[in-house]
Amino acid sequence: MPHDAAMDGEALRLAHEHALRHLASLNDRPVGPCPAPEVIRAALGDMPEQGDKPAAVIDHLVLACEPGLVASNGPRYFGFVFGGAVPGALAADWLVSAWDQNACFYVASPAAAAVEQAAAEWLLDLFDLPRESACGFVTGCQAANFMGLLAARRSVLQRAGWDVHADGLRGAPPVRVIASEQAHSTIDRAASILGLGAARIERVRADEQGRMSPDDLARVLGAGDGPAIVCAQAGNVNTGAFDRMPPIADACQAHGAWLHVDGAFGLWGRVSPSIAPHLEGVERADSWATDAHKWLNVPYDCGVVIVRDGAALHAATRYEGDYLIKGGGRRDGCDFAVESSRRARGVPVYAALRSLGRAGVRRLIERNCAQARRMAERLAAGGAQILNDVVLNQVLVDLHAPKGRAHDAHIDAVIERIQQDGVCWLGGTRWNGQRALRISVSCWLTKDEDIDRSAAAILDAAASESQPGGL
Ligand SMILES: *Cc1c(COP(=O)(O)O)cnc(C)c1O
Repeated sequence: MPHDAAMDGEALRLAHEHALRHLASLNDRPVGPCPAPEVIRAALGDMPEQGDKPAAVIDHLVLACEPGLVASNGPRYFGFVFGGAVPGALAADWLVSAWDQNACFYVASPAAAAVEQAAAEWLLDLFDLPRESACGFVTGCQAANFMGLLAARRSVLQRAGWDVHADGLRGAPPVRVIASEQAHSTIDRAASILGLGAARIERVRADEQGRMSPDDLARVLGAGDGPAIVCAQAGNVNTGAFDRMPPIADACQAHGAWLHVDGAFGLWGRVSPSIAPHLEGVERADSWATDAHKWLNVPYDCGVVIVRDGAALHAATRYEGDYLIKGGGRRDGCDFAVESSRRARGVPVYAALRSLGRAGVRRLIERNCAQARRMAERLAAGGAQILNDVVLNQVLVDLHAPKGRAHDAHIDAVIERIQQDGVCWLGGTRWNGQRALRISVSCWLTKDEDIDRSAAAILDAAASESQPGGL
């Protein structure tokens, strides 16, 4: 019998069953298993000479991968800023794979182009950003930061009389990149990839919550001249703090600098009347980067770049070829991203927004923020120190080390114990030169009882590590 993967209903049904079983296990499985690295690789085996049947491939994959699957889309995963996948978005994502549309050109899929157009319009509306902005779907906020700075580089050099698209950077006026000492490391990578130099970023001081100092920004801007790009942040990856936008936008305006905002998760605060005041003035920026796979809870991978001057983005991604059929007032996906062929990753965004509705997105964001505050209260009541103002979904936690044990070693031992215990998963970070526990509440599945159970597990781990027998 021929193996016709596209028609193999058995493999699709099996994958569906395995997927549902996995999703049903999220609440109960240890959150972060950690098998030896060679175990899964060994189970995956060698490349066969003759292929297996699709259904056998699926069974084999599940068997091999099961011990290494992390419940990072489950209710008690608090590492990084991950988020899960709401059912509407996950189901739509399956459909994206089955449809297998190429979202590069309008003619390649009028449906994909229209859905992404709708999702883009809804996002601009939800974030209350200039409606004329261009909005592109990329792989994540790293790519979105890159795209924002790509448009910025093109635009500030254009104003200085230089066409970087045609002539590259050699001989170009130097472009200044200015960012807070608390900027996310993806800003450094974007600057590096764009030939602007990660080590050449001019640093602006941040305050004790990790917010850029507007006074210091004005000082740094005034200390030089020429084309400049300022990178501000809505949502510090450790504290959740927001850079104060009005004075930052003023300083950028006064110096003719491009203002880019990394709002990977913080931009979602725009949907909540209680959080939105922290984001006042963010609409004055020139470009914004955010994630959909974090707080909107769509499956990987999906980030969003928004550029006020869409022409700058389109010019920076300009793309010509004789066989390409483009334009005509229609949305060609390749004008909004550096990818050419790609999956229609705007479709799950549309589905998430449609299934949650405006009110559902607001409830998701506000519930996670309330749960972060609940976590902070529970931990503080148990003797932990909360290092940040919990203004969003991030909690930074410190613990006293027992006598005779170095602080950082103690924190790392507690983190490891929490991870092995498996009730919840969190990671560590460095804050003010010291190790700290870092908690991010970003999942639609998290319930208040998950917070209470996890806080208890964290406090238990800290207590065990503090007892002489636990060392
Ligand atoms: C997560 C994050 C990024 C990078 O996003 P990816 O989706 O991992 O590419 C950038 N900036 C901030 C503030 C983040 O939290």
